[in-house]
Amino acid sequence: TEAELKTATDDLASLFRQSSRAVAFTGAGISTESGIPDFRSPGGLWTQNKPIPFQAFIQSREARAEAWRRKFTMDDSYRGAAPARGHLALAAMIRAGHLSGIITQNIDNLHQDAGTPDPQLIEIHGNGTYATCLACGRRHELSWVRQRFEASGGEPPDCEACGGPVKSATISFGQAMPEAKMRQAAAWSTDCDLFLAIGSSLVVYPAAGLPLAARESGAHLVIINREETPLDEAAHLIIRADIGEVLEGLTRRLGIGGLS
Ligand code: NAD
Repeated sequence: TEAELKTATDDLASLFRQSSRAVAFTGAGISTESGIPDFRSPGGLWTQNKPIPFQAFIQSREARAEAWRRKFTMDDSYRGAAPARGHLALAAMIRAGHLSGIITQNIDNLHQDAGTPDPQLIEIHGNGTYATCLACGRRHELSWVRQRFEASGGEPPDCEACGGPVKSATISFGQAMPEAKMRQAAAWSTDCDLFLAIGSSLVVYPAAGLPLAARESGAHLVIINREETPLDEAAHLIIRADIGEVLEGLTRRLGIGGLS
C-alpha cells in the first residue's frame, strides 16, 4: 500500500543518514523503466533472442554469426534507451556523497549515461556497447563490427590486429568473470555498512554472493525488487515496489534535487 511504501522509504532514508559507506548493487530491474526488458519477463526479447553460451561462441563460427545477429536485433529494439529515475537517483546520490559506488550486473551503459563517474562504477558482467577480441583484447566499435557483418552477408568479423574472434564486451554464461573487477566488487561489499540490492532476482552467481558477503560483514542489507528473491530472509529491509518511485522518494527525503 501507499502507506507501507512511505514508511519503508522513510526507513531507507534513515538507514542512509546513519551510513557512512553505502553501496548499490543493480540488476536488469533498474533498466525496465528505460524500456529494456529484464531477463525473466515472459515472451520478452531475451527469451526470443537467447544469449549464446561462451563455449558455443568460441567453438563455432555459426554460433558467432548467430550471436551477432541476435545482438543487433536486440540493439535495434532498445536504440535510444535513456537513463531512468533509478539510474539518475543513484548518480545524484553519489554526487551528493550519500553513496560510495554502484556495482552493476547490467551491460546497457545507462549508469554511465546517467552521469555516474567511472571510478564509482563496477560492471561485473561487462558492457554491451562495444566489442573486444578474445585473443588479444583489442577494442572494436560495434559500428565497425556491424558494417563487416552486413557487408559479408552475415559472417562474424575477426580481429583486425590478430585475426581472433571478436565478441561483445559482455560476460556470457560459461565465460570467466573479470577477476580484478570481482575482487574490487567483493571489497566494496565487505567494506560497506549499507548494501542496496536493486532490481535483481539474485539468482545469478557469483554476483548474488555479494549481498550475502556484505550482510556477513555486518552491513545493513536492503532489497528493492518487485518480486521475492532467495535472499529476502537475509535482508533487514525489503521494499517490494517500483524502483523509480522508491529511489525518487529516497532522494527527496535526502534533500537531493534535480533528477531530470
Ligand atoms: P533479472 O531479470 O533476473 O531480475 C530482475 C528483477 O527486477 C526481477 O525480479 C523483477 O521483478 C525486478 N524488476 C523489474 N522491473 C522492476 C521495477 N521497475 N521495479 C522493481 N523491480 C523490478 O535480472 P538480473 O538479476 O540482473 O539478472 C539478469 C542477468 O542478465 C544479469 O546478469 C544481467 O547482466 C543480464 N541482463 C542485463 C540487462 C541490462 O543490461 N539492462 C537486461 C537483461 C538482462
